[in-house]
Amino acid sequence: MKLEVLTIGTELLLGYTVDTNAAELGRALAAAGAEVARRATVPDRPDAIRTAVVEALDRTGFVIATGGLGPTRDDLTKTVVADLMKRRLVLDEELLAGIEARFKRMGRPMPAINRTQAEVPEGATVLPNPRGTAPGLWVEDARGRVVVLLPGVPREMRGLLVEQVLPRIVERQGAARRVVSSRTVRTTGVSESALAERVGPIEPDIAPLTLAYLPSVDGVDLRVTAWDLDPTDAEARLAGAVERLVTAVGEHGYGVDDADLAAVVLDALRRGRHRLGVAESCTGGMIAERVTNIPGASDTFIGGVVAYADVIKTAALKVPLETLEAYGAVSEETVRAMAEGAQRLFSADSSIAVTGIAGPGGGTPEKPVGTVWLAARVHTTTRAIKRVLPGDRDDVRRRAAQASLDLLRRLLAEA
Ligand code: AMP
Ligand code: MG
Repeated sequence: MKLEVLTIGTELLLGYTVDTNAAELGRALAAAGAEVARRATVPDRPDAIRTAVVEALDRTGFVIATGGLGPTRDDLTKTVVADLMKRRLVLDEELLAGIEARFKRMGRPMPAINRTQAEVPEGATVLPNPRGTAPGLWVEDARGRVVVLLPGVPREMRGLLVEQVLPRIVERQGAARRVVSSRTVRTTGVSESALAERVGPIEPDIAPLTLAYLPSVDGVDLRVTAWDLDPTDAEARLAGAVERLVTAVGEHGYGVDDADLAAVVLDALRRGRHRLGVAESCTGGMIAERVTNIPGASDTFIGGVVAYADVIKTAALKVPLETLEAYGAVSEETVRAMAEGAQRLFSADSSIAVTGIAGPGGGTPEKPVGTVWLAARVHTTTRAIKRVLPGDRDDVRRRAAQASLDLLRRLLAEA
């Protein structure tokens, strides 16, 4: 099954909004067995939208469009598509009631222009959108050609795609369905080449699945992909490949697919009935942010201190002034004292501490930009390591946060 994706919005062409919808549609449709044969982006102009939809229908007979379904004057998609498919726009009373109820729940009066969002091309299937006011629309003509309209707001687009569009696309394909599907094994604290040494020997065995190494500031993800296979076959092969990869990467792997290292660490802490406190210098609160981003963090995470100036390292964390003077703020001695200080300050039995030089200034020949000292402590055991992290200021800070979480993960795994 072939189709085309059309993203609509002048802001996308100007580059102010990154077209995440197109990327997301590409991934999700491939996994559902639909091949995106082409994708295009057009501005909020009726002639441009019309031409793009007509041409896509001529080529593949199936187009999924996002954007331009709002209530304002630049939202033209529905009108243009109704016109080119020769449908009148008719008011859908049920939709109108839903939109009115939505405003009522928010305690706001409904502006009159929102009424237009309850108008649908005659004969179209309304795809309910519980996350917003604009519903999705599935418009099919007598020849079986389809235009699907989805809102531009990524969260609403995603919800409609998963709940309404993909099931219909799967159903249309019947038994002949073939999918492109991926799984990911996530690693951190190990170089791409060291990983390749461990994983390389497996590659011939997992064929025809392909393997990609995807490095980022979080580490190296191993993405294994099944191409054009029967869905059950693809799933079974992917599960087998993931199992072999997880074994091969060993202690460097922290999870699969969407796993977040902060969530993995919280789980491990919870299992050991630990409590966590953090002391951050160059990461400025990023570790606390990562941890509190995880639902349910409050049963494990006590708190954090951003000890940026030396005076806070001494006052809040009780790092001895002599330590700072003798070894400097970015040193093993300081980071160990910070980890102990965080444990004490938060009455926690485990802690993380980070101190480093994020740059662009502040580097020296002995301690170049990117030098960070990290510590993880559980009960009376402290593990401290130095890393010289690559990248700009943002990269160094994000890598330091990830590496410090990883240090605690590894320490907990040994205990
Ligand atoms: P619209 O439905 O066109 O009114 O868009 C609503 C919001 O979604 C705007 O903030 C857009 O910038 C955003 N948006 C629209 N299309 C996309 C897209 N293809 N990718 C990411 N965001 C988008
Ligand atoms: Mg728009």
